[in-house]
Amino acid sequence: MTFYARLAAAGLILAALGAAGCSQEPAKTETAAAPAHTASPDIHAFRIGQIEAVALKDGEMALPAADATASPWADAAEVASVLNGAGQTDGVVHLSVQPLLLRDGERIVLIDTGAAGQMGTEGKLQSSLRAAGVEPGQVTDVLISHSHGDHIGGLGGNGGKLAFPNAAIRMSAAEWADLQANPGSFGPLIEAIRPKVQTFEPGAEVAPGVTSVGLPGHTPGHVGYEIVSGADRLLYIGDAMHSSLISVQRPELVNGWDSDSAAAVRTRQGLLGRGASGSLRIYGVHFPFPGLGRFERRDDGFIWAPEAG
Ligand SMILES: [Zn+2]
Repeated sequence: MTFYARLAAAGLILAALGAAGCSQEPAKTETAAAPAHTASPDIHAFRIGQIEAVALKDGEMALPAADATASPWADAAEVASVLNGAGQTDGVVHLSVQPLLLRDGERIVLIDTGAAGQMGTEGKLQSSLRAAGVEPGQVTDVLISHSHGDHIGGLGGNGGKLAFPNAAIRMSAAEWADLQANPGSFGPLIEAIRPKVQTFEPGAEVAPGVTSVGLPGHTPGHVGYEIVSGADRLLYIGDAMHSSLISVQRPELVNGWDSDSAAAVRTRQGLLGRGASGSLRIYGVHFPFPGLGRFERRDDGFIWAPEAG
């Protein structure tokens, strides 16, 4: 969080790259299956069993790998090697931001809320939500992976109001305690959301078909969410991994944004092993839009295999 605050304060907000990596039009079949949606390059509708899911583009971050004040990976040479190996020669780590919408009957669940235009992002979440056919007041549950600005920033609305006024806000008890102990610039937001916050222990079911999963290391109470419907499942990994290249191919590299680096490395390695062995469908909130894919073994390590279409 302090890094993010410095990033914003230092004016290291780089060119908005919203068009990059998210220019695909939704497939015709998806549009036909979800008539409430407006055609938009910032949403991607898919299904998890009976649950309708939509990736909602909020924005994009661009972190120059050689700039130690911008990139969380101190080992710039290793990062450059990974980027070059992927054919990406601009020396910039590109991170997308796409909260996830779930609709299942009466429940409309939003996982994370984006950065509200901070940290180099474009603040598209509200327009993406509306393109998905949902008004903010219809959201019944907001699930937070952790309390960094690009995940809770979108909870606040204009004039100190709540962006999702009718939603319960759920986060782990450890994360809520840490946010209150280290409020940074979020003091007013904390007071605004306090009446709506409901805490849980990792492993708890937090909405129908949605179970929190402890993914330790990034923050004191960081969690992912497993969504299950019928035989289908999806694991939302939060910030256990940031880059679909660096975090996947070099999970052992220290990431300065992690509060407990050793735990974060173990979490990444565990996710990669279990994910690849089980061919788990993964949702990376910071992976290239729409963030859907699987981990696959490659040589001695792993690669990210995004879903086609
Ligand atoms: Zn994040």
